[in-house]
Amino acid sequence: MEKIVVVGAGQAGASCVAKLRSEGFAGSITLLGEEHAPPYQRPPLSKAYLLGEMALERLYLRPESYYAESGIELRLDTTVQAIDRRDRVVIAGGQAVPYDALVLATGSVPRRLPGSIGGELRGVHVVRTLADVDAMAPGIVAGRRALIVGGGYIGLEAAAVCAKRGLDVTLIEAADRILMRVACPETSAWFRALHARHGVRVLEGVGLTCLTGVDGKVAGAILSDNTEHPYDIVIAGIGITPCTELAEAAGLEIENGIRVDARGRTSDPAIWAAGDCASLPFRGRRIRLESVQNAIDQAEAVARNILGAGEDYVPQPWFWSDQYDVKLQIAGLNTGYDNIVMRDGDGRSHWYYEGDTLLAVDAMNDPRAYMVGKRLIEAGRSPDKAAIADPATDLKALLRG
Ligand code: FAD
Repeated sequence: MEKIVVVGAGQAGASCVAKLRSEGFAGSITLLGEEHAPPYQRPPLSKAYLLGEMALERLYLRPESYYAESGIELRLDTTVQAIDRRDRVVIAGGQAVPYDALVLATGSVPRRLPGSIGGELRGVHVVRTLADVDAMAPGIVAGRRALIVGGGYIGLEAAAVCAKRGLDVTLIEAADRILMRVACPETSAWFRALHARHGVRVLEGVGLTCLTGVDGKVAGAILSDNTEHPYDIVIAGIGITPCTELAEAAGLEIENGIRVDARGRTSDPAIWAAGDCASLPFRGRRIRLESVQNAIDQAEAVARNILGAGEDYVPQPWFWSDQYDVKLQIAGLNTGYDNIVMRDGDGRSHWYYEGDTLLAVDAMNDPRAYMVGKRLIEAGRSPDKAAIADPATDLKALLRG
């Protein structure tokens, strides 16, 4: 193994190349990324960076000098157009870059509001890249009217930033409740109340019919409840699509993402995938995880496996979200839950059970509940529900029990 090429200079790509070097790989490493900035973290884009509370350099995962110093060839502004599996090269900017092992870490792209309903008007934004946020930031001005489309974490975080910056904010969610896809009704209700306290109008079961514009700039919206309102800025947080085009065109198997086995290998043994773009086996099902921790852990496992470790990657999902003065931390995956236990401890936490088996915990301003829940889930242990619900229970004692 002499040449490793990684496509996508985001969280997973950067983690993979760093791991290859720290594991002692001495051959050539090329990291190809289509964005202009060196690898950076995305979470602050809808939080501290959008609020103007974080400097650009702090977004970078490593100082720019790290890549050259580590003998990693980082090529930015470089889009990979094709993979030639027979000759083992990728084509970027008309050049063929040869590989012995190839890692696809192409991430995902945000769904956009269609042009047919005004999605291409100026003042309509998505939150995925630094360029997206730099384009939207000048429009976030106190007194303006913001419409946030979508009540997932990105939409709620954008609503919180806009409200904190003094905009008049309306958030619409077409489903029956915000966070419907990812959280229990109790967590949805908790965040609905939080946003209401900060003056955000949260309209559930209300979709967007179309945007209206003046001179090519957004001016308002007609909602599915047949009301029409003026807006100065629109931010869509309506989900993402995994970037699978390259893999698909190269004939790799796709199944809600680039299909990989437990070691991160695609249907071509010389090609691996990690991060948002990859779908992996988990507890007898196939999942795709959209989180920093997964991007790091899966990419590092792929790096070790390319070098021959032969280890299965078992995700230990966790996620966080910051809204106003609330830090939400989520441990585990709640898929399949059928009952919830609520706990008022340091903050509030919601414990997801399938029968008596603990699957996941949402902890709002309660790091202790998060930490204990995470360790119990990782150990495959399920605490007694009455003990969890009782605020007098010392959670840490459950770890010893
Ligand atoms: P990315 O970081 O998206 O990197 C993929 C890179 O590949 C991109 O730079 C892309 O341009 C590049 N690329 C794609 N195709 C090509 C090509 N053909 N040629 C060259 N380059 C290509 N996760 C959390 O856990 N907690 C959070 O609080 C959280 N908040 C978030 C907030 C925002 C606003 C966003 C957008 C995401 C957030 N996430 C959060 C999700 C997390 O950032 C992603 O799961 C993570 O970045 C995935 O890493 P990745 O490397 O798979 O993809």
